[in-house]
Amino acid sequence: MTPLGGVGEIGKNMWVLEIGDEMLIIDSGVKFPENDLLGIDLVIPDFDYVLKNKEKVNGIVLTHGHLDHIGGLPYLLKELKVPVYGTKLTLGLLEGNLKEHNLLKDTRLKVVHSGKAVKVGNFTVDFIRVNHSIADTCALAIHTPLGPIVYASDFKFDQTPIDGEVADFHKLAELGDSEQGVLALFSDSTNVEREGYTLSEKVVGETVDEIFRDARERIIIATFASNIHRIQQIVDAAFKYNRKIAFTGRSMINNVDIARRLGYLQIPDDMIVDIRDCSSLPDSQIVLLTTGSQGEPYAALTRMARGDHYHINIKEGDTVMISASAIPGNEKFVGQTINKLYRRGANVIYEDVSGVHVSGHASQEELKLMLNLVKPKYFVPTHGEYRHLYKHAALAEKTGISRDNIYIAEVGDKIKFTDEKIAKEGNIQSGDILIDGLGIGDVGNIVLRDRKLLSEDGIIIVVVTIDKKGNILVGPDIITRGFVYIRESEELIEAATKRVKDSLKECEESNITEWSVLKNTIRNSLNNYIYQKIKRNPMILPVIMEV
Ligand SMILES: [Zn+2]
Ligand SMILES: [Zn+2]
Repeated sequence: MTPLGGVGEIGKNMWVLEIGDEMLIIDSGVKFPENDLLGIDLVIPDFDYVLKNKEKVNGIVLTHGHLDHIGGLPYLLKELKVPVYGTKLTLGLLEGNLKEHNLLKDTRLKVVHSGKAVKVGNFTVDFIRVNHSIADTCALAIHTPLGPIVYASDFKFDQTPIDGEVADFHKLAELGDSEQGVLALFSDSTNVEREGYTLSEKVVGETVDEIFRDARERIIIATFASNIHRIQQIVDAAFKYNRKIAFTGRSMINNVDIARRLGYLQIPDDMIVDIRDCSSLPDSQIVLLTTGSQGEPYAALTRMARGDHYHINIKEGDTVMISASAIPGNEKFVGQTINKLYRRGANVIYEDVSGVHVSGHASQEELKLMLNLVKPKYFVPTHGEYRHLYKHAALAEKTGISRDNIYIAEVGDKIKFTDEKIAKEGNIQSGDILIDGLGIGDVGNIVLRDRKLLSEDGIIIVVVTIDKKGNILVGPDIITRGFVYIRESEELIEAATKRVKDSLKECEESNITEWSVLKNTIRNSLNNYIYQKIKRNPMILPVIMEV
């Protein structure tokens, strides 16, 4: 088993299983860029290894429809034509994704029902129901000559799930109890730092009910667009309290549409109103479901908070519920959104009220339960930053797995399982591929370094026209962006221009005409002068034209 992502990081989950000459891909997700990846839209795994072994790949199996598990597929399927297996909702969400990339027609999607096994080439894979913050999530048991590998990422155990689909404890126990036993467990480490059990999704329903009971005017709720069960609970409350529902935000509208079409979300047609018609209804009869629970700059709730949403103006009396927790890194954006909503007079209910949100990932007791049900010989913590993996390993040790049988993986580690031991067998090429617009992997360290420089002190462009002998004909002219406000810095620019002119004159007198030398001269003289004057280091771009 080799991780191409998802260990030592949150996001871009992807594993490759190899038995002899056969390969199976498990999940293929994206990661959202950290703040230092300026302008980057998405990060995907480096697919080099699987693409070099294309003919070995039997297929792709998916655990669930979150983007950190399926978002990389459009990029992979461009190069690799193999069938994709997943549950109905997972593939439904993937379809939308593939459509945008014009890949739907030549991709073979195979629906698997939880509780069933499928043959993927030479691999047999059991799809086992587990709970998570998206419906139709499965753990996978992949059968190998040494016993099944159980891949449980992501999961929680919800004893009172909204759709009544309790996790398939029996199947997990049966695998653990089989004569051969489970070879290895790969398990979700996201919430390993939380003690006890993760609360049931039902708890949020109770909070939602209270909010609906108390609210007199409009209710606006932001949540993850993929959390179909959460949306269903809000719909149920709206029905009970006689409110109509409007949806806003592209992913919210798309996901609700897919989930309704596939039967995962029950909303009577006459309960749905177009957002443009909201104003014709009394405020007490409206609930608005929106994206923006992470304070994303262009999401609908963020726009409302800023006052630039097309159809909705936040006003006094509005109740706004943010039914999500901030993903690490987004706290500041969420905080800003909350401040702005308060400023506009809304009553904001968010994370610090218990029951506004519950996690989709297992806490310590559930992780131990998984370990004890499956009773694996080997254990590999997955889906977490390094500290999560480390703590999950320690937790597994407590349940009786010996340290020698636990492996904390890094992206690209080829982990080999034998009857005797689990050990690293080598490395494959792996890492992050950056997506910017339509470009895949064309933005690297050099481009990012330039973007960083530009973002810090701006740019100065020096344009000068010379003749063949190196005499200055026109200029130098200085143009700047993001450096200083020219109109208020005329003196500085004039002095800088003179500085460049003087140093070019010196070159002229010494008969220096090589462009590279001239460019360096411009750069150095300007650099020193600007730094001396205002302690800034803008990027300097000399442009020399010869006539
Ligand atoms: Zn997930
Ligand atoms: Zn995940």
